[in-house]
Amino acid sequence: MSKTIHIIGSGFSSLAASCYLAKAGYEVTVFEKNATIGGRARQLKKEGFTFDIGPTWYWMPDVFERFFGDFDKQPTDYYTLEKLSPAYSVYFGQRDAITIEDSLDKIYAAFEREEPGSSKALMEFISEAKSNYDIAIKDLVYNPGVSPLELVTPKTILKLNQFFSTIKRDVRKRFNNNRLAQILEFPVLFLGAKPSDTPSFYNFMNYADFGLGTFHPKKGMYQVILAMEALAKSLGVNVETNANVDSITVENGTAKGLVVNGENKPCDLVLSGADYHHTETLLDKPYRQYSENYWDKKTFAPSSLLFYVGFDKKLQHVDHHTLFFDVDFDTHAEAIYDHPAWPEQPLFYASFPSITDDSCAPKGKEAGIFLIPLAPGLEDTEALREAYFEKIMIRFENLTQQSVKKNIIFKESFCVNDFVKDYNSYKGNAYGMANTLLQTAFLRPKLKSKKVKHLFFTGQLTVPGPGVPPSLISGKLTSELIQEVL
Ligand SMILES: Cc1cc2nc3c(=O)[nH]c(=O)nc-3n(C[C@H](O)[C@H](O)[C@H](O)COP(=O)(O)OP(=O)(O)OC[C@H]3O[C@@H](n4cnc5c(N)ncnc54)[C@H](O)[C@@H]3O)c2cc1C
Repeated sequence: MSKTIHIIGSGFSSLAASCYLAKAGYEVTVFEKNATIGGRARQLKKEGFTFDIGPTWYWMPDVFERFFGDFDKQPTDYYTLEKLSPAYSVYFGQRDAITIEDSLDKIYAAFEREEPGSSKALMEFISEAKSNYDIAIKDLVYNPGVSPLELVTPKTILKLNQFFSTIKRDVRKRFNNNRLAQILEFPVLFLGAKPSDTPSFYNFMNYADFGLGTFHPKKGMYQVILAMEALAKSLGVNVETNANVDSITVENGTAKGLVVNGENKPCDLVLSGADYHHTETLLDKPYRQYSENYWDKKTFAPSSLLFYVGFDKKLQHVDHHTLFFDVDFDTHAEAIYDHPAWPEQPLFYASFPSITDDSCAPKGKEAGIFLIPLAPGLEDTEALREAYFEKIMIRFENLTQQSVKKNIIFKESFCVNDFVKDYNSYKGNAYGMANTLLQTAFLRPKLKSKKVKHLFFTGQLTVPGPGVPPSLISGKLTSELIQEVL
């Protein structure tokens, strides 16, 4: 009889792991507390509008191809991808934005227009970033973070200095123009820490951005979740929603099952894709590996205040992805990482998927997603949410020179309290634990429990880190470790 594996959660990492484990012959069931699957990547539908609640940037298409390729499939078997052109634009002032197009040549030209001579520096920077991408994303990140030796290869030894310098230092050394430097510092924000705390080796994110481009799955990122669900089900995975895991059953130091909505569900092995900290609270204290103090000291990726807005008209002067960097980046970053507080003048990001995808809004209308990064654990009230909506709407109208407030049909918000309530997220973090030098690879919380046999972890708080592509890789890594023991 095949061995049974119970998986907690149905985010990208859990779904990925479920596919690999079912393919390997295990009987796999996914238990998701919410009514729909997808975790942080769920979908909101309202009055004919469709919003991705979480991720909106589809980067590193090669990682998705590699995932589906492991099952002799390809992304196009499930969803249609469009390369966005332009990829995004970045506002610095009133009707003053730099647009990042869909090819390196066009981006070099945009840099040259902004600062003559900068394209040469960019070519050198991107060539290094590509070399790091080939080392990191094609190879290094597929290591399970078990030993420091995983990071020591002939190629990484040659780049040792890049682990001890930072993105910020490296970018500022090469680019004097503050606007260009800020654009180059933006991609590493996906890794969850400040550019001044992120090793310069991580400039592979800049190659992902400029070299590979930004894609949009038709009908939104949720299509990727649906694709993975279809693949998982075709491999025999059972998926149960509205299935809250109350605790993990441990007997004589070995995981023996789950208690789901009060009911015992025995199994041979437990894998959790829920937030790592929460998963450990499902165990009796002696079985937890990391103390509250450990978690408290870690650098977490930001939480976010999000708005999902239906507009009754098409908007002007914005792109599918639009960033608003018209205020001081460092002051906002301090409010996230150094002195947690609501930022006085927040940077924000807006996405209008209906600009390129008719299915996201009724004809003649626009779907808008607005995101302000925030420190995890901040006080979250309706009044604060309202005040910040007002703040960014005033800026948005002024910067893009149009009135939009009176065109709002509805708005929904999502913030710290919702991350905790919906996902059991530690301090309401939005995208996990940051990738800093001291929180990389073998220095991250482990995929395999050191205290409970047959208990494994996956997802954005463990290896390799935050983001959709790393979550897919995390599912693969943990499933390989599981196959070594079961
Ligand atoms: C606002 C936002 C924007 C983002 N933007 C991007 C982007 O543009 N591009 C990108 O690549 N990445 C982005 N990310 C990051 C990316 O979405 C995440 O890294 C990824 O989705 C995490 O997947 P996961 O499997 O680790 O965890 P999750 O998606 O959090 O899945 C964990 C699941 O476990 C469930 N669960 C928790 N506790 C229990 C329990 N007791 N019982 C049962 N189930 C439980 C939760 O409900 C959840 O479904 C973004 C994230 C957010 C929040």
